[in-house]
Amino acid sequence: MAELIRDKKSLKDALKSLKGEVGFVPTMGALHRGHIELIRRCKKENNVCVVSIFVNPEQFGANEDFEKYPRDIEKDLSICKSEGVDIVFAPEVSEIYPTKPIILLEIPGLTDVLEGKFRPGHFRGVCIVLSKLFNLIHPKRAYFGEKDFQQLIVVKKLVEELGFDIDIVPVPTVRDDDGLALSSRNAYLSKSERESARCIYQSFELMQELFRKNLDIEEIRKRMEDFILSHKHVVGIDYIEFTDDALRGVNKLEVGHRVLIAVRFESARLIDNWEVKQ
Ligand code: AMP
Repeated sequence: MAELIRDKKSLKDALKSLKGEVGFVPTMGALHRGHIELIRRCKKENNVCVVSIFVNPEQFGANEDFEKYPRDIEKDLSICKSEGVDIVFAPEVSEIYPTKPIILLEIPGLTDVLEGKFRPGHFRGVCIVLSKLFNLIHPKRAYFGEKDFQQLIVVKKLVEELGFDIDIVPVPTVRDDDGLALSSRNAYLSKSERESARCIYQSFELMQELFRKNLDIEEIRKRMEDFILSHKHVVGIDYIEFTDDALRGVNKLEVGHRVLIAVRFESARLIDNWEVKQ
């Protein structure tokens, strides 16, 4: 159970020895209950469950947190063991990128908006690493959190256009008791910042209230902005955007639409999103 594999050849051999449908959960490690939810869903729906743990340098910008991103392979491995994961694939960077990738995977309108606008090249890195991992693992299904809603939409498009025969399965966001979406980056927050960080979830509650009162979308955005900016440790808001379920911008809010948000705190930049409900 939960065999740790670090190279492509051993991965191939291990996959060959296991029979049945393969489910895949790609992660960057520092596993939390959000990841565990993906793993459980994967276990339930497949004969074989593969988890990758790879902090992918290609999806980090030059001034981002690649070096300090939390890494704890021992703890991750023990979580995977207790969840009954079959294979944990945790390669070195050189195993995935013997040479720096020169193919640029971009999806105009999807990878250059929202996160793509504030983190140029981020989705190129996501698309290239997933293409490589899909080609190594050949899963029947791959599991992605709605927490990274834009990533989910990008991956669906990538798989559709490049013809990967993989079902992309979305998994709802797992939240802490106060509503903050679980994220490996929450570990960067001080105690006081962590308290402030629930303002993101509270801004969704505010949005729901204003939506029910039929307020105009710009007014809702403004009220959410003011609310978030009134909290300690908030340095700025990168965006609050309203889209439909395919990430197209909307100017009238309806049930089923999404609000996507990125907030900079002193020690961490957090993203979250919420599906508009009645
Ligand atoms: P990461 O390790 O942050 O790259 O995330 C790996 C996968 O876990 C991605 O598909 C994320 O969307 C998903 N994920 C991260 N946090 C959560 C969460 N709080 N709830 C559900 N899925 C999550």
